[in-house]
Amino acid sequence: MTKKIAILSGDGIGPEIIEQALRVLGALGLDLEMNTAPVGGAAYDLHGHPLPPETLKLAQESDAILFGAVGDWKYDQLARELRPEQAILGLRKALGLFANLRPAILYPQLANASSLKPEIVAGLDILIVRELTGDIYFGQPRGERVVAEGPFKGERQGFDTMHYAESEIRRIAHVAFQAAAKRQGRLCSVDKANVLETSQFWRDIVIDVAREYPDIELSHMYVDNAAMQLVRAPKAFDVIVTGNLFGDILSDEAAMLTGSIGMLPSASLNASNQGLYEPSHGSAPDIAGKDVANPLATILSAAMLLRYSLNLPEQAQRIEAAVQNVLEQGLRTADIHEEGTRRVGTAEMGDAVLRALS
Ligand code: NAD
Repeated sequence: MTKKIAILSGDGIGPEIIEQALRVLGALGLDLEMNTAPVGGAAYDLHGHPLPPETLKLAQESDAILFGAVGDWKYDQLARELRPEQAILGLRKALGLFANLRPAILYPQLANASSLKPEIVAGLDILIVRELTGDIYFGQPRGERVVAEGPFKGERQGFDTMHYAESEIRRIAHVAFQAAAKRQGRLCSVDKANVLETSQFWRDIVIDVAREYPDIELSHMYVDNAAMQLVRAPKAFDVIVTGNLFGDILSDEAAMLTGSIGMLPSASLNASNQGLYEPSHGSAPDIAGKDVANPLATILSAAMLLRYSLNLPEQAQRIEAAVQNVLEQGLRTADIHEEGTRRVGTAEMGDAVLRALS
C-alpha cells in the first residue's frame, strides 16, 4: 500500500538537507507518496502563520513527516505564537507526539570529534526516549503569584507544577521497553525519586510495566547520577527512558558526547506510530544556502522514518550502512572535517550516500 509522507523543509538549511534525504529515499524504489508544504518562517512569509491549516492537514493525513528545521533571527521580533518554532509545538500537540527518540551514535571514524577521550566514546550507541508532552513544561497551575505565608510572605513568586498521569508514564514506558527489545535489551529509567513525588510515582509505574517485558533488564538511576555516568562511561547505557524535563537536558548532553550535531537524527512518535522525523540540529541560518551543511542527520532521520513509521527495518539499515560507508571512505562535511579526510559539500555528500546505496 502506498505510504504518505509529508515533506516540511522549513527554513535555513532545511531545504538543502531535505533535498538530499529525498534523493536517498527515492533511490530505494519504495511505494511512497510525497507531498510538500511550507512550515516555520517560510510558511509565515507565505501565509502569515508558521503552521498554516493546509500544512497541519497534510501532516495529519500522512503516515510520517520528514521535517527539516525552522527558525531564523529575522523572526525574533514576532509575537511568540507566530514564531517559526511554534510549528513544531503545534505539530506535536495536534498529532499527540508524546515519545521523542534520540539516538546518540558516535561512529568510530568520528571518535576525534568528541570532546571526550576516544576510548570512552568510540562506538557509542545509545537511545534516549524522552516523554515529550507532559511534565513540568505543561503542568498547571503555573505563573506568578504573591506568597501567602512563610519566610517569603508578601513576595512575588514564580511557580510551575510537575505531574505525570499513570497513562502518560505507561505509554512512554511501553515505547522504551519495545525499543530496548530491538536493541541490546537493557533499559535505564532516569528519575529523581529520592526527592520528587512525581518521580517516585514514575518509578512505581515503570516497574509495573516491566512485568510485561521479562526479557528486558531494567535499572533505575537518579538524574544527577545519570548526568555524571553519561560523561564517565556512556557506553554502559543502551536505552534511557525519562520525563520531559530530565530528557531535555540529558538528550542534549548525549548529543554533545558525539561532538557532531550534524550527524544526529530524531523521531517523535504517537500511539499509532505516526511520527515526525527531523535532525537534532536547528536551521543553521549562518551557513544556509552555502552547500556546506551536513545532510547526514536528515538522511538518518529518513532511515528512522522507515524503521518506526513504515516498519521497513531492512531499508533503514541500508541507509545507515551507506552513511557508515561514506564515512569509511573519508568523506566529511565541514562540521566533521579533520586532517587526512576529504571535505565535501552538502550535495556531494548526498551523491556519495547514493553511490554507497547502489
Ligand atoms: P543550530 O543547530 O541551527 O546551529 C548551531 C551551530 O551548529 C551553528 O554554528 C550551525 O552552523 C551548526 N550546524 C547546525 N546544523 C548543522 C549541519 N547540519 N551541518 C553543519 N553545521 C550545522 O542552532 P542555533 O544557531 O542555536 O539556532 C538557529 C535557529 O534554529 C534558531 O532560529 C533556532 O530557534 C532554530 N532551531 C530550530 C530547531 C528545529 O527546527 N527543531 C532546533 C534548534 C534550533
